[in-house]
Amino acid sequence: MINNLLEEIGSAKTIGITGHVRPDGDCVGAVLGLYSYLSNAYKDADIRIFLEEPAEMFSFLKGYDKIDSTFAYPGQFDVFFSLDSGDLERIEKSQKLFLGAKKSICIDHHISNQGFGDVSHVEPQASSTCEILTHMFEDEYMDAEVAKALYTGIAHDTGIFRYSCTGAKTFEALGKLVQYDFDGSKITDETFLQKTYVQNQILGRTLLESILFMDGRCIAGSIDRKAMEFYGVNSRDFEGIVNQLQVTKGVEVAIFMHETGTLEHKVSLRSNGKVDVSEVASYFGGGGHVRAAGCTMNGTFHDVLNNLSLHIERQLMEQDRMEQK
Ligand code: 5GP
Ligand code: MN
Repeated sequence: MINNLLEEIGSAKTIGITGHVRPDGDCVGAVLGLYSYLSNAYKDADIRIFLEEPAEMFSFLKGYDKIDSTFAYPGQFDVFFSLDSGDLERIEKSQKLFLGAKKSICIDHHISNQGFGDVSHVEPQASSTCEILTHMFEDEYMDAEVAKALYTGIAHDTGIFRYSCTGAKTFEALGKLVQYDFDGSKITDETFLQKTYVQNQILGRTLLESILFMDGRCIAGSIDRKAMEFYGVNSRDFEGIVNQLQVTKGVEVAIFMHETGTLEHKVSLRSNGKVDVSEVASYFGGGGHVRAAGCTMNGTFHDVLNNLSLHIERQLMEQDRMEQK
């Protein structure tokens, strides 16, 4: 675990920062927040960001235009950070840079994270990686740009401060951030709540075609390649769909999947508390949190659904038995 972030970095002259594939709000916020913070703390260091291209709506954050999505860097970094990634596989194209660095540091909050890198700081009870960073950062090098990025990440991973992962430490972190001059509600409106017309269309279509099963305790929706091509959408446009499925009354587990290749699906799982979906996702090679997890699975939509259902049903039955006792 890290006690003092700046001591951990020492006198590094080259610092690299990365996050997981298909970067979400917490990942982008953490990467750009750390970038801004370290730019203030290490004026002479060469600080680089390596990340798959994030959604354009995050372009208001400082450092967005510095993101390198080519992952090409000939040298060795003194320090290299992996943020918000539960395992080494999820930083994909940055793996080489991370492993080749003089010191590699992992900061994350996924319960499925078993720790990787020379220094690993994992707090599974934290709402977000941005919450962890907020507590690590010293006031001296904070500014509104850092605060904006961290606020964005916390807002996204907590569903605007609502999900059960939102705790006292989350609000403490937010208290620290809102002292800086920025418009928090503009951030949540424009990066979380607002949807494009096609995003809403695809949401509507998924809900319309969703399947409710297991006596109404499980709901599943999907988007195939044909629909993706028809609407001209990609995986970034699906954010929030699984959460809308999840709020269906009576539902314990929501499943959303989209086709990523021939007989290959990217799966998003959400639980309302009775089922540990991180366990389900981990079984299929993915991971995440107790109430939000994901994995990639092979087979048709129905194959994937059947395989997931077995695990979900087993956990639900176990829960029912425990509750009856
Ligand atoms: P989402 O459904 O929003 O893509 O992901 C939910 C959570 O599960 C996120 O915290 C994400 O990092 C994690 N997650 C999603 N897909 C995978 C995966 O394939 N592997 C691992 N280890 N974690 C995943
Ligand atoms: Mn996160």
